[in-house]
Amino acid sequence: MLQIKYSFRKATAKDTQIVLARENDNKFPAMLKRLGVDPELVFARGFKGKKDEAAEFWALSKTGGSLIILGLGSDDNPDNARRAGGILSAIAVKKKLNSLAVVWLPDMKKYLSAFVEGIILGGYTFDRYKSAADGPAEIKLIFDNSTAAFRGEIDRAVIICEAARLARDLINTPGNDMPPRELAARAGKLALSCGMPVKIYGPAELAKLKMGALLGVARGSDQPPQLIEWHYNGAGKKDKPIVLIGKGVTFDSGGISIKPAEGMQEMKNDMAGAAVVVSLMHIMAKLKPRLNVIGLAPCVENMPSGKALRPGDVVTASDGQTIEIISTDAEGRLILADAICHARKLNPAALIDMATLTGAVKIALGETTAGIFGNDDKMIGRLYESGQRTAEKIWRLPLWEEYHELIKSDIADMKNSGGRPAGAITAACFLAKFVKDTPWAHIDIAGVDNNDKSHPYLTKGATGFGVRLLADYLLNLD
Ligand code: MN
Ligand code: ZN
Repeated sequence: MLQIKYSFRKATAKDTQIVLARENDNKFPAMLKRLGVDPELVFARGFKGKKDEAAEFWALSKTGGSLIILGLGSDDNPDNARRAGGILSAIAVKKKLNSLAVVWLPDMKKYLSAFVEGIILGGYTFDRYKSAADGPAEIKLIFDNSTAAFRGEIDRAVIICEAARLARDLINTPGNDMPPRELAARAGKLALSCGMPVKIYGPAELAKLKMGALLGVARGSDQPPQLIEWHYNGAGKKDKPIVLIGKGVTFDSGGISIKPAEGMQEMKNDMAGAAVVVSLMHIMAKLKPRLNVIGLAPCVENMPSGKALRPGDVVTASDGQTIEIISTDAEGRLILADAICHARKLNPAALIDMATLTGAVKIALGETTAGIFGNDDKMIGRLYESGQRTAEKIWRLPLWEEYHELIKSDIADMKNSGGRPAGAITAACFLAKFVKDTPWAHIDIAGVDNNDKSHPYLTKGATGFGVRLLADYLLNLD
């Protein structure tokens, strides 16, 4: 895995010099001259400074050094700098460059941390299962001494994006190596390493807590379920905590309502919400905002077997509400229901859950935007702003009464599936029945958790969507 180190010093001819340029920036030619580069050389290459543009110059005649110029576009969007960072990572890996000196970056405040984020995110690889991996390479990022004033921003970007890489690692790990117990063990180790209290509930404790919905899902698997609970205490004892809940289905076969074979391998990703929560707790421990945050991750494997839940069964959640099972593939909401009941006993200021909950959200919003639902306009508004800043975008969908009608059951308090119409919404309506009036937001990441296209900083596989979004939200609450 590509490691990123950084330091502050003057660039030398041995470093590859990095320049970021806006489209049609009239200060650009003079700046090139100051670096000893003939602007005509750059313009002859057709370089315009457009978004995603990169021009490489090797062994420049005057300095003997090399130069990479990256475009920032003209629309002032910091995500263009994030993309440029990702593109730079790819070039550095391909050309085996090990020291990159950032010699020109317009508007540090606007672009610096996004650029650093892009480098770290774009330099992610998952090579644990490759017997002939290239091995870890290291890139040294060199910044001018004057950039040291922005050390805080750089540190923060590094911590957040390394946590996003950790989330990608957990999510990309196959189901056979990441059963609930392993996820709990990793979370426990991480919490211990940063001195954070963590509690792990096993099957017997979950039974004592009467988590009939969660245990119902876990029943079909030989892997015992786990509920992970971390406490980060950054504020006074009287401050109510924000409780983060992440869906941790370590593999989702659909259970007896088994999924089609095609694409089922992607269901190792069904614990992405839990991985995001693990990473966020790590960020809290490192950046120490003045907040109290509790992380909850209900973890199960959803498998068909002679012990598995059947469609038509009725289970009872820990708050006593009964649920008729229509589809055993609508399992995420069942484990979240019990986790939400548990969260409400922790005296929360607010609940935020994150889950790869429904295929329907991908139909509604595609693969670049997550769905958000909830009962607190202010919180949702602030989360939306965080989404715009981090380019982990979210869009709100409604929870109107007519949607609640769709999950009424003839024999129980509710049913776990309302069918295909408005599937992402009825899943959220189901969760709302357990939330009651606690301030709450639910983020359905089933469309955005995995990337199979070429993208500058979203490498193929798990994206870690949600880590940067919620880190931005939480750190701005402090
Ligand atoms: Mn499912
Ligand atoms: Zn699922």
